[in-house]
Amino acid sequence: MKAMISKCMLGVPCRYDGKSKPLDENILNKLKEKYELIPFCPEEVALPTPRPPARFIGDRIIDINGIDKTDAFLKGAKEALNLCKKENIKLFIGKEKSPSCGIKKTSAYINGCECKCDAPGLTAKLLKEEGIELLSEWNLT
Ligand code: SF4
Repeated sequence: MKAMISKCMLGVPCRYDGKSKPLDENILNKLKEKYELIPFCPEEVALPTPRPPARFIGDRIIDINGIDKTDAFLKGAKEALNLCKKENIKLFIGKEKSPSCGIKKTSAYINGCECKCDAPGLTAKLLKEEGIELLSEWNLT
């Protein structure tokens, strides 16, 4: 079975800060036994790396400089969905706290404070709406 996975969790330095967040090797090996992993980074589709960090404010995604990046994030989410449809991918394994890939938590500004709120990122939300199952990095064993 094919599973799309946040690319930064495979050690690719595609995060906003130009770094990666690799999974523990044992967990990754177990995933590889179970799934054919398809790495994907939605933010790389329309944004450079490194890039200014961005957070939800309401339903918009605004970067640290106050620039609205929602369209760029949406482009990446749609590209992820297109790839899932093309490759018949039914599962997305996402990096938590990302405004794109977060499954249980995403980053947001609420009342002027930076926080992690209980909501999915934009890509995870779109994939779920299209019937793709979501699996949080926090539920990998
Ligand atoms: S958008 Fe997703 S894959 Fe890309 S760096 Fe952020 S969490 Fe990782």
